Amino acid sequence: MHLDMYRNIVDGGELRAIERLAAHLKGRSFVHVNSTATGGGVAELLQRMVPLIKGLDIDIKWKVIEGNHKFFDVTKNMHNTLQGKGRPFTKQMWDVYEETNRKNAEKLDLEGDCIFIHDPQPAALIESRKGGGIWIWRCHIDISTPDRISWYFLKKFVDMYDASIFSVASFAQHLKNTQFMVPPSIDPLSDKNMDLEKSYIDGVMERFAIPRDKPILLQVSRFDPWKDPIGVIEAYRMVKRYKDCRLILAGGTAADDPEGERMLEKVRTAASGDPDIHILLLPPSSHKEINALQRAADVVIQKSLREGFGLVVAEALWKGRPVIGSAVGGIPLQIIDGVNGFLVHSIEGTAYRIRQTLHNPKMADRLGAAGREHIKKNFLITRHIRDYLAMWVSMENTTSKNIIYL
Ligand code: UDP
Repeated sequence: MHLDMYRNIVDGGELRAIERLAAHLKGRSFVHVNSTATGGGVAELLQRMVPLIKGLDIDIKWKVIEGNHKFFDVTKNMHNTLQGKGRPFTKQMWDVYEETNRKNAEKLDLEGDCIFIHDPQPAALIESRKGGGIWIWRCHIDISTPDRISWYFLKKFVDMYDASIFSVASFAQHLKNTQFMVPPSIDPLSDKNMDLEKSYIDGVMERFAIPRDKPILLQVSRFDPWKDPIGVIEAYRMVKRYKDCRLILAGGTAADDPEGERMLEKVRTAASGDPDIHILLLPPSSHKEINALQRAADVVIQKSLREGFGLVVAEALWKGRPVIGSAVGGIPLQIIDGVNGFLVHSIEGTAYRIRQTLHNPKMADRLGAAGREHIKKNFLITRHIRDYLAMWVSMENTTSKNIIYL
């Protein structure tokens, strides 16, 4: 993989900016640390980003921390409490967290010019910081309204970093260090987003036994209460009274997530008896299938009650689909209401905008085209790489505490 592959996709200026920033950083070392090599958005992004940055003559390494079941149970609870719901912590749990981080710090070579630690799981590695190098904490989750105890525990580590990065301005917190706002991105060349042949899309629809006889509404998301699949079904029912259509709810199997299983059961009950609602349980590797479903849909919905950034919105907009999304988390960064989709606040509002979009195919095309352009300018992997490199260069030249919007 090389940046040249993006030459026909993004503006030339963007690539030149990356090359100039990279020239400043040639031969320097960039270390990324997260908690999993596969699965989840962070790993997916690093898999794509690391080879691209390597191709710029920057010595980039990606390391993954190890931990036992107890550690990941604690960090899952941290994740939940930081996003505002979870169970209380015991001192023992905090000890497991710190101890596991200490052990990892002994094993991993964390020497480099810029050390990038992703999310809360490895945040305490900073306690073992030695020597020079800039240390940056990259937060991918929504910590705008965290459980206070959990946040104050984590904050004492975050404050030790030279800088921190948040995806959306409202997720930022009071910290002692410099904060950057860097939204996530999608890769237009990944299986999830690459162009697909019509025959492949038709094949996927056939495989899932979804007829193309009426307009298709789609929501792709984990079966999670915050994604409000039941609300999507209610909106679909309101639309269907006036305009016949199908609804696809596609999401993960949630085998290791009891909460997900319960939600899936509720969704099945809510959908029972309606052959036009298609509930698809997809294995984690279904990137190309999701790509095909998004391309086959007439309207894409993301009716979250709470959202991090909402990558699925960027994925659908990139495919030129009209998207109707709740005005929560990072969705309003991606959907400009009435320009490249619609922002909604209720089930009724969702149903209204779906009907309007289905009745106006020309408007739907216009929204879709504007959506693709918005993602191209703001949310592709090249912009993300440019931001990381610009941030690194700027950190080498500043010691003041600032909020920097890239
Ligand atoms: N996704 C997937 N399989 C599923 C459901 C979602 O691969 O069954 C993908 C989806 O295409 C997107 C990501 O998982 O790339 C979800 O990211 P998002 O930010 O939308 O939501 P999150 O699940 O992180 O809250």
